[in-house]
Amino acid sequence: MDGVINMAKKIRYIKGMGVTHIDTRQEIHKIDRYKNIEHYKDIIYQCGKCGTCRTVYQDADWAKVCPSGEFRKFESYYLGGKNLLIWGLTSGKLNWTDNLANIFYHCSVCMACVQQCQVPELHSFSGEWLMAMREEAVKQGYGPMPEQRLYTKHTMEEKNPYMEKHDDRLNWLPSHIKQTADAKLAYFVGCTSSYREKNVAVATVEILNSLKVDFRIHDNEACCGSPVYMTGQTEKAKILAETNVNNFKNAGIEKIVTSCAGCYRTWKDIYPNKFGLEHGIEVKHLPEFLLGKLKNGELNFTKEFNMKITYHDPCHIGRHMGIYEAPRDVLSNIPGIEMLEMPRNRSNAWCCGSGGGVRSAFKDMSAFAANERIEEAKETAAEAIVTCCPFCLNQFKNNIKDNEIQAIDLSEIVKKVI
Ligand code: SF4
Ligand code: SF4
Repeated sequence: MDGVINMAKKIRYIKGMGVTHIDTRQEIHKIDRYKNIEHYKDIIYQCGKCGTCRTVYQDADWAKVCPSGEFRKFESYYLGGKNLLIWGLTSGKLNWTDNLANIFYHCSVCMACVQQCQVPELHSFSGEWLMAMREEAVKQGYGPMPEQRLYTKHTMEEKNPYMEKHDDRLNWLPSHIKQTADAKLAYFVGCTSSYREKNVAVATVEILNSLKVDFRIHDNEACCGSPVYMTGQTEKAKILAETNVNNFKNAGIEKIVTSCAGCYRTWKDIYPNKFGLEHGIEVKHLPEFLLGKLKNGELNFTKEFNMKITYHDPCHIGRHMGIYEAPRDVLSNIPGIEMLEMPRNRSNAWCCGSGGGVRSAFKDMSAFAANERIEEAKETAAEAIVTCCPFCLNQFKNNIKDNEIQAIDLSEIVKKVI
């Protein structure tokens, strides 16, 4: 435990007032990330219940950030309240109940609250114990939620959480797409693009073909494990991770490009840092990959895309991984696009409400979060909310109820302009 406190004191990195940057978290996490709740229990009490984690108090005019707290309107659902409950459970003053577990699962683990808290130890580690408490809930028999249990069972059997057959995973793949049998680069499609947002998968392989990139899709790709891991089921998620790592390593894959924010974070961060799977495979999110091609002159936008758009930062590549500018840089280089920012952007972005198992278990909270974001996007006067995560995309499409705005993936736009 000393390690956590000493480390946090040593890296008092918060630069004056204002929002800190998640990148700094990556440095400290090497030592104290992804531990069980015992590891953190002695610093949770440092939460002063000040409420700073409820709002962006700089840049976004005290805008709210927590989908869970704002939906339930009760202190227990904000980070400060959750911290108090964790302190009660870890100090033996409270016992686990279904109601307590329900509160911990009312959270998309979007990290927006963590980003705002200015207490160094809490800013650095709150995200860790939000996850550690889910693991603990599973160990104690109070997690995951019933709907999450259902999709987990299917995922372990059919390698996807969508109740679809594994054998149908590549049904979206157009016959004209050229793959290279011994390519070292693989496109990791992910479950949402394979079964729900197939346009993203199609656009991505069309782009790779247009750029003459030698690539292949592994014919036995499994769910990356994110929906299982994010609901505290670490052991099961690790089985999926090992399946993928073994399959991809055995196939000689050295680099992965993915179009899904969740798959990207899971491969790049969770596999090595949580599961200890040092796979050595380079992982790129599609906008990063495309930006590299733009910079070295291999990618040129030859057509216009005349539209006012606003970009939504997916939590898994934004606050979790620090990627904010690559998608914006790609989009702003496309002729005809007018970029409009929502007030809550980059590290202050409001979550779409689909992650952390929330969409399956708490549909009301999930829809509330999506609608809040859609309204914010509309207020910019954008014609489209653009993202680079099929899960966010699917969430917006399911919740847009009028013709005032549409949801598009970055890949779909790029495909149209090359
Ligand atoms: S987590 Fe941080 S910002 Fe939130 S109530 Fe506790 S000390 Fe305040
Ligand atoms: S991680 Fe997101 S949903 Fe969970 S408590 Fe923090 S702001 Fe709320």
